[in-house]
Amino acid sequence: MIKHDIVVVGGGLAGMRAAVEAAERGADVAIVSKMHPVRSHSGAAQGGINAALGNEEADTPEAHAFDCVKGADYLGDQDAIEAMAEDAPRQIIWLEHRGCIFSRMPDGRIAQRPFGGASFPRTCFSADVTGLVILHTLWEQLERFNVKVYEEYFATALCVEDGVGTGITAYNMRNGELELVNAKATIFATGGAGRAYAKTTNGYASTGDGMAICYRAGVPLMDMEFVQFHPTSLKENGVLLSEAARGEGAYLLNKDGERFMFKYAPNKGELASRDVVSRAEWTEIMEGRGENGCVFLDLRHLGREKILERLPQIRELALDATGKDAIDTPIPILPGMHYWMGGIATDKDGATSIPGVYAAGECACVSVHGANRLGGNSLLETIVFGHRSATHAANYIKSVGEVRSSEKTFKNEQDRINGILARTGGERHPQVRKALNTAMSDHAFIFRDDKTLGEGEVALRQVREMAQKMTTMDKSKTFNTDLVGLLETEFLVDISMTTMMGARNRTESRGAQARTDFPDRDDANWMKHTLMHFKGQTTDPEPDYSRGVTFTKFKPEVRTY
Ligand SMILES: Cc1cc2nc3c(=O)[nH]c(=O)nc-3n(C[C@H](O)[C@H](O)[C@H](O)COP(=O)(O)OP(=O)(O)OC[C@H]3O[C@@H](n4cnc5c(N)ncnc54)[C@H](O)[C@@H]3O)c2cc1C
Repeated sequence: MIKHDIVVVGGGLAGMRAAVEAAERGADVAIVSKMHPVRSHSGAAQGGINAALGNEEADTPEAHAFDCVKGADYLGDQDAIEAMAEDAPRQIIWLEHRGCIFSRMPDGRIAQRPFGGASFPRTCFSADVTGLVILHTLWEQLERFNVKVYEEYFATALCVEDGVGTGITAYNMRNGELELVNAKATIFATGGAGRAYAKTTNGYASTGDGMAICYRAGVPLMDMEFVQFHPTSLKENGVLLSEAARGEGAYLLNKDGERFMFKYAPNKGELASRDVVSRAEWTEIMEGRGENGCVFLDLRHLGREKILERLPQIRELALDATGKDAIDTPIPILPGMHYWMGGIATDKDGATSIPGVYAAGECACVSVHGANRLGGNSLLETIVFGHRSATHAANYIKSVGEVRSSEKTFKNEQDRINGILARTGGERHPQVRKALNTAMSDHAFIFRDDKTLGEGEVALRQVREMAQKMTTMDKSKTFNTDLVGLLETEFLVDISMTTMMGARNRTESRGAQARTDFPDRDDANWMKHTLMHFKGQTTDPEPDYSRGVTFTKFKPEVRTY
């Protein structure tokens, strides 16, 4: 049995920030990660991280908080948003002091670029490889504090004894043995679930594992219907071209060369919030002003020098995928699945409904993004709430004595995995994944209505049935990626219905949820969070609307950009 005071599941930015904080506070902490931490999806983040430093123009945490509240279409919890906005400058300075190399203004201060939905240039960046630079900074800190990392360990279940979290079970991918990982506090930082969709900007490992694990153990998932479609993903492969491009001044054009965004967002144009821009693009495409199902991102007027200095990766990604050089050619793009606003329901310290269980980063719903996240706020969330959850957990464990080891969960998981390996005759996981991807992409896309979502529920129930019988061809113990892929697909299947049902139940349009049959925001009936409770792998989730939105000082207003 592996034993630590605090176990962090996931080695992306949220996981590493949490682990460093716990280590600094003297806790015995370890990371369990299904891959090497610096390969986490956080490393793909390009555009930057928000903080009201006020370096480029005067700015305040209050203005940052207001932009988040508005961006969230008033569904975000304002106490959590204020906590994030206030802590942001401190966390940036913390990163800076740990060696994070941010891009600079000529006078040496940290540079900040404008991002969508922000009233000031607030996004700190390292060219267009910000996530990677922060990830390496935190990795160095992990090494400095000798934090133990269990790499290529795949968490399968949460252990709960007498209503309290006592760690996880993890499958050691190198030798195929299941291990019990005992902990006084467990922090989930397992990232997003983009792989539920056919095309996504997310990496292959974004399969919603932590969301499903907590959900199965009794923690509700919150606001799962809110899925962000990023305005600029490459048609060829779904790869992201960061908002940094528009932040630096790039245009969006339709097939007639028209900068169409000002029709939809007269003040902000290309820098409206992402839900607004994605809907505008999709409307242009649907009304016949796209070309081959795409619109265009035009960087030409920025000039070669600026593109090479500020957006080198974006140019390279586009060149690799399309053969087109952004320096002299507009790049075909369309909206692509990017981010899950919803996730494991937590409070503003990352605590879930089970004592000793925390969640931070994209897998969590704190909720700071509400119905729509602003660019640059996700990296910030990983750092702020990685820090907060570890701070809370480090205090919590002081009052916890020995925790019971969950032999029962261990035995159940062992039997479950052996049972899967012994199965024959059913579909293999890529087929099931494909059916799931089609159901989600066809029925829970940018524009939704009752009919499409209802059909989506039926399709997902069929996928769920297929998933019960999935088999592996590989029955071996060493790096059985067939088995891991199957377990990931099961996780995705479990959580997808929370999105489809949540979207169908919510009879309004708010942020990323655009219902053509209910085009208006309905504050009277829907100013509340969606909680989804797990009722078994063959049963629909149980919705619960008992959690209201927390307000502090920002009153709901009509949202225009
Ligand atoms: C292409 C791209 C660009 C982006 N750009 C930006 C940006 O510029 N600014 C911004 O604010 N946001 C951006 N985002 C969003 C942001 O990067 C992510 O939301 C954030 O980095 C997620 O961090 P995380 O720590 O929560 O998870 P991740 O970085 O995804 O890490 C998840 C970790 O969990 C581990 N894990 C998962 N499941 C298991 C399991 N079963 N067992 C053990 N370990 C497990 C993985 O090994 C991994 O270490 C971008 C996202 C993408 C996809």
